Amino acid sequence: MEKTLYELRTFHLTGRKIDEDFADLGGLDLVPALLSRYRDLTQIRYDYPLVLIEGGGGSYVQSLASITNGILQVIAPEGIEGERTRKNLLNLEMEMRALSAESGRCALSKLWEAAASKILSGSDLSGEEKKLLEANLTRAKGALKIDGEVIECNGEASSSLFVHGWKVFENKRAQSVLERLEGLIVGLSGILRSDELKSDEALSADSLRGSVGTSFEDSFDFSVLADSLVESSQESHLPKKRRERVRFALTVLESQRFFASRLDNRGKEGDGPYPFVVDSCTDVLKTYRDRIPHMVDFVKAVRIAELELANEYDEAKHDPFFEQFGEGSLSKEDISYFPSYLVCLENSKYDDANKATLVEILSSDLPIKVLVEPEEAIGSSSVKSDRSPLGGWDLQLANLAMSLGSAYVLQASNSSLYMMSEAISEGLGYQGPALFNVFSGSVASFPNLAPYLVSASAAQARAFPAFVYDPGAGENWAARFNVVDANPQAESDWPVDAFNYEDQDLQAVNEDLAFTFVDFVASDKRLSENFISVPQASWNANMVPASEYLELADEKAADKVPYILMVDGKSVLHRVVATHNIISAARRHAETWRNLQELGGINNSHALALLEREKEAWEEEKKREIEEIRTELGAEAEQIVAAEAPALEEGAEAAEVVEVKGPIEEACIETPRCNACDECTKKNPKMFMYNENKQAYIADIDAGTFRDLVESAEVCKVAIIHPGKPRNLDEANLEELIKRAEPFNVAP
Ligand code: SF4
Repeated sequence: MEKTLYELRTFHLTGRKIDEDFADLGGLDLVPALLSRYRDLTQIRYDYPLVLIEGGGGSYVQSLASITNGILQVIAPEGIEGERTRKNLLNLEMEMRALSAESGRCALSKLWEAAASKILSGSDLSGEEKKLLEANLTRAKGALKIDGEVIECNGEASSSLFVHGWKVFENKRAQSVLERLEGLIVGLSGILRSDELKSDEALSADSLRGSVGTSFEDSFDFSVLADSLVESSQESHLPKKRRERVRFALTVLESQRFFASRLDNRGKEGDGPYPFVVDSCTDVLKTYRDRIPHMVDFVKAVRIAELELANEYDEAKHDPFFEQFGEGSLSKEDISYFPSYLVCLENSKYDDANKATLVEILSSDLPIKVLVEPEEAIGSSSVKSDRSPLGGWDLQLANLAMSLGSAYVLQASNSSLYMMSEAISEGLGYQGPALFNVFSGSVASFPNLAPYLVSASAAQARAFPAFVYDPGAGENWAARFNVVDANPQAESDWPVDAFNYEDQDLQAVNEDLAFTFVDFVASDKRLSENFISVPQASWNANMVPASEYLELADEKAADKVPYILMVDGKSVLHRVVATHNIISAARRHAETWRNLQELGGINNSHALALLEREKEAWEEEKKREIEEIRTELGAEAEQIVAAEAPALEEGAEAAEVVEVKGPIEEACIETPRCNACDECTKKNPKMFMYNENKQAYIADIDAGTFRDLVESAEVCKVAIIHPGKPRNLDEANLEELIKRAEPFNVAP
């Protein structure tokens, strides 16, 4: 045993294998124990594949599972009646999963049809049963009211999702701008037309309708427009200056390239709407700057058009204003009308110039959204020594962006994208810059795990935690920063899950296992030299789970060896020992995670320190009160105080627990004895509340009357409410209430 421990410790400390029985992980096809049940993802209902929903209306993305669930709610009645339908549709979903994994991207409608026809052609059901199956699948297809591209969790998932989400968001936003724009174009055309024809007939509703074509004749109320134009052009000829001004505005609005207008009939090659989705930060910044003069002209034209159509253009006042109109005249609101830019930063373009420009963008207030996809969740160099950076620039990027303060920042793994789809939408709609730092999990160095599992385990292991920083969400960190919603068991160092297996004696074993950074990197073949599988004969009591080892002080860890559980392709359990470098990297990742927790309000050290100070102050105050009682009451009180003092010295915590015998003067509850009967909390929910153990305490003594206290004491089934003395001596019927309170003011 001692020899084995020595050999294991040697490997742990130096990475040198001196016992050939210790196997390298390379050829063992091992996966972390908690992931072993997910080896075949096509048989599991999880977030992917995702469907990028076409058209407006509801959500821009849905999981295949949520679509199936929605249809089942419509067509499958509760209970046994709907059982066959549920089974048929869930089979169809599984078939779609398998086909999607095989074939890659395609439309949901096509995938659905392919899966349904495969199920029907492969079915060995008898005639009547087959007809029922066919009827159920047809009914389900009839209830499918949406379509869109189906995407798998792979290296392209995040860019597909973000580009799609961006398009949906921008199309929605463009609707109102376009309506306004097209109205202005029709109106300005009407003014010029009336001047050319010099007749009211030219401004009739029919004439205006005819002048803009039939493609959107339902969009405008031409009668209203005609009335307003006739009114505003009673003078038969437009002055030259005005005509030129109207023509300028019309030309700019008709030739603008920021929005794809239904009035767009340019048709010249090379024209058409500008592209807004690009792959480089340096390009986007240059493009944005190049387009500023066109933005200025566009806004100027819109304002002139509005004034002209309202017949409110005053040359003396407005001419000087528009002559000076330039980049500095654009307000935030003006800029917010234009589409934002989306940069899907290609890894091949992730050079120093792009990094520098990215920081410039994130420090600005420009409407530029940048999607960055780090190729790995940890830098392999980060486990080589204690001094190596954790993941380098790519993985510190989101922290850097948060520190700049003005950008919306979202960090996530592909596995969390569906759960965070609303936060993604918020970021795409944020007025200023946004950074989306997304780890795809599509990494060649994890050959035994599907990309979804790599990305999910990077998040679970706190190697790539998810968070959102929204500078527009409020005044402080509590409102702006959220690390809780998207991370599993965010309040813990590591998430813990149940693991069930059979031991060598075929006895069922149920264990709670933590999923640590060590579990995550054990699947990374670049780091395989940092792990060995230990044969069962060499397992010993000095081997401790990595999650426990990480908690040990150095002196306690001195004779221990950390291991994790992994499972091979034949479902055999292995204990895998990790080197000191891996443990050290895990500690540093845990530390980084704790910093994020603190920012997110979990285990905040300032709050804990404040609590400790308050507790000490409270204890001091109680000691002082006891001293006063001792002085006032003499020897009799000595006995009482002596009996209670130890509890105080041990630091009894809850202020609402009674500490001193004798008539109770201040209202209190013996909280630890509360059985949560709801009587007091129902009577006055502001005065009485439950703590985290669902036991009542007095939350706000001033939120009610002395009567509330007395009556609650009377209904409290365990007689633990002590009303004390009334605080408001003007309260009605005090004499009677004090009398009723007396039996409850005797200390326990
Ligand atoms: S009435 Fe008594 S037992 Fe009931 S919730 Fe209140 S304190 Fe607890």
